[in-house]
Amino acid sequence: MHATATETDFVLPSSRVAALTALVVCAAQPERRTVLSPLSGRPLAQIPQSSRADVAGAVGTARSAARQWRELSPRRRAAIVLAFHDRLLAGREEILDLIQLETGKTRADAFEEVAEVANVARYYARTASALLEPRRRRGVLPVVGHATQSRLPRGVVGVVTPWNYPFALSLGEAITALLAGNVVLLRPDPRTALCVLWGVQQLITAGLPAGVLQVVVGDGDSIGAAVVRCVDFISFTGSTRTGRAVAAVAAERMVGCSLELGGKNALYVRADAALPLAVDIARRSVFTAAGQLCTHTERLILHKDIAEEFLRLFLAAVAELRLGVALDYGYDMGSLFGPEQLERVIGHVEDARRRGARVLTGGRHRPEIGPWVYEPTVLENVSAAMDLRDAETFGPVVSVYRVADDDAAVRLINDSDYGLHATIVSGDRTAARALAPLLRTGTVSINESFAASWGAVGATMGVRGDSGTGYRHGPEGLLAYTAVQSVAEQRAGRLGVRGAEGQRRFADWFSRALVAARRGGLH
Ligand code: NAD
Repeated sequence: MHATATETDFVLPSSRVAALTALVVCAAQPERRTVLSPLSGRPLAQIPQSSRADVAGAVGTARSAARQWRELSPRRRAAIVLAFHDRLLAGREEILDLIQLETGKTRADAFEEVAEVANVARYYARTASALLEPRRRRGVLPVVGHATQSRLPRGVVGVVTPWNYPFALSLGEAITALLAGNVVLLRPDPRTALCVLWGVQQLITAGLPAGVLQVVVGDGDSIGAAVVRCVDFISFTGSTRTGRAVAAVAAERMVGCSLELGGKNALYVRADAALPLAVDIARRSVFTAAGQLCTHTERLILHKDIAEEFLRLFLAAVAELRLGVALDYGYDMGSLFGPEQLERVIGHVEDARRRGARVLTGGRHRPEIGPWVYEPTVLENVSAAMDLRDAETFGPVVSVYRVADDDAAVRLINDSDYGLHATIVSGDRTAARALAPLLRTGTVSINESFAASWGAVGATMGVRGDSGTGYRHGPEGLLAYTAVQSVAEQRAGRLGVRGAEGQRRFADWFSRALVAARRGGLH
């Protein structure tokens, strides 16, 4: 493990900040908050804050723009998003800098955010039109009637996102909702708004009409909550605790919500796994974004027959990880997001240590690399008495467990209130595939890290248990942003008659029709 200090001065020109923050819906003389860069711990920018009145104004503006956007053909909307896709990739060096400066992650981890947004933009631009196509259904009686099932936009979609994957989550969800024909009120985390505003700027330059995508910035319990209180559908990504509060408001208002929440994900190495591959997958699964990723691995479950050898190779690989902060590729792990995140990680590791866990490697804050850098950490002898056994650490910390067989591995993977993601590494993919339906998780990756499930953008990611409700990616990811409407038309005949004799004859006739439908194999 190399500790590398950097000379780079992590700053942004104020003109660049002003051009981006001009897109925030706020008063002429707004309150401004200073955000710090996790790369240096020093001030990065002053960000204008929106008020509750600004949220109300932004919803009004979005509603005024809704009709024009809804009536644009899905193909025209897709053309704008594809133009954005190209601008994003062409401008990637600039957005990578912003993501790194705001989050403290490595450039390779920042690139995952860019790739995700490009992937989502391209996938839905190419599929939205067909997904939104009205479907003709049979009427009560064949021939004389039919129904048409349509997918209509929900209206104003509120997208509330956290700091850990600010660009990917904000732009990914906003674009999906837009391609479903909605207008969007986006509330990124106030500490990571600049990279999101860069994406919004690119969408506008690519042709997004004015008013269709509004950005408000401010604290979660005031501005985030205000968004949740006034939109027609809520897309929330964050912790389970906040997700429950958002769900309660959605229930009270009787509007739909999609909740993508926390995880305590496991990676199971079967006895037949190729260990160098398993080590590489585990390294990336645990330490990507310094573990501040909902789908990353916090529990490493090893078949007892390979546990010793796996750990020997894994600990050597962890020792090789290059920690650092720099606006360039090369480092394997960057910084935690800030002091609260560092405190949480230290709290979990120290609590475990105190209660008898063995630290196999790591377990130290490394301020000489960056103010909030923490070592990649592997723990053993973790018990239920320790906070990190079941609670999400959201840091570069993994605990190791040994099992005797697949059944024990499945029990342990499912022994969590969360149900987000699981990884299986095995030399026998058929056997690994057979385990997947036994796992109570929304996604499973086989012989790759979470990146396989995350990147398979056409496959809907589900969530189970305390990890939320709703979908990301795939057909359901877009359809969740639509309201179903069915229009049934009757061409001839009537359904029901008056008078005792007429009703009896109708019941006889309709029963014969039902029997005929059953015999004819109709559904
Ligand atoms: P958090 O719940 O504290 O905050 C998330 C966001 O919600 C923040 O921007 C916050 O300002 C805002 N917020 C707070 N109170 C609110 C309220 N009452 N109404 C509306 N918004 C409110 O979570 P966090 O610690 O910032 O983010 C990390 C969490 O997010 C982790 O649990 C992680 O697993 C989860 N996450 C999940 C996914 C996923 O796809 N499942 C992706 C990324 C992160």
